[in-house]
Amino acid sequence: MLVRKIYAYSGVCLAINAVVLAQGCVVTGHPAGEAQWGRSDSSASLEQVIEQPGPVEVETIAAASWQVPLEGMLNLDHPKARAAGLTSSEQPIEIYFHALRHPTRGLFIVDTGVEHALQVAPERAAVRGFVAKLAKLSTLEVKVDLKTWLARQEQPLSGVFFTHLHLDHVLGLPDVPDTTPLFSGPGEARAHGLLNLFTRPITDRAFEGHAALGEWQFQTDPAGRFAGVLDVLGDGSLWALHVPGHSPGSTAYLARTPRGPVLMVGDASHTAWGWEHEVEPGTFSTDVEQSAGSLSALEGLVKRHPSIDVRLGHQPHGQPIVVATP
Ligand SMILES: [Zn+2]
Repeated sequence: MLVRKIYAYSGVCLAINAVVLAQGCVVTGHPAGEAQWGRSDSSASLEQVIEQPGPVEVETIAAASWQVPLEGMLNLDHPKARAAGLTSSEQPIEIYFHALRHPTRGLFIVDTGVEHALQVAPERAAVRGFVAKLAKLSTLEVKVDLKTWLARQEQPLSGVFFTHLHLDHVLGLPDVPDTTPLFSGPGEARAHGLLNLFTRPITDRAFEGHAALGEWQFQTDPAGRFAGVLDVLGDGSLWALHVPGHSPGSTAYLARTPRGPVLMVGDASHTAWGWEHEVEPGTFSTDVEQSAGSLSALEGLVKRHPSIDVRLGHQPHGQPIVVATP
């Protein structure tokens, strides 16, 4: 999302010749390859077991609060958004990460929160300088950084599962131990975009010294509901759902817990309003139409299984839209 926040400032990018653009605009140059974990499966298999209690405990942590423009998080051209009279305005959001505790496989996190240095040594943080200023990072209020949170845990981190690689989801990566396995959706690291000219140095710094990124090897969902469905740990307790549109590799995760299924949608839906009204994200997305299809697939899953506890990308349920003051 932070990536898109500086969109208005990216005009200078246009002045750079096409060859440089083609070569320079991937998300990160960090090594990425096929993930060695995960077994491609069908949404039908998932839905057979989805309501059976499972072994994974999920804890959602609000690492920081921040403000971003509504038009990035919500397609204001959608008829429902127009009917509601929604207009461009700054919205309060949370930067979340989710802790997953599996009884035998260990501790995992979905996304990364924010790094320790952001508060104590901002000049050494992965995101700093020009981009930090443009993104108004000074308005970001850290609640708990990843290093501090990890130090309180009883077990080491066994892996990181990214919903996608926009900056506000990799900000905590510098605090992840270097050898921890990292995973994202397919095509995420090498996705092209003008804004990557600004953000790639930051993303590369966040990944520096870390293991190669494993990209989920999704295959077509035989049931046709998702772009791909993967049994992450091979025991049916944690599932990756390919939901492209916000970014090419956007991935949602569903964990089966003792109290029922928990769905972490990532930025397939940033806001409570967007989820409640089934309106897809806006200008922060690579492909708004595709993201509408992915949101619809997730909403459909929850309608078929209303016991699913949905964790949204950046807001708690019930959070109203802040209306712009004239
Ligand atoms: Zn985000």
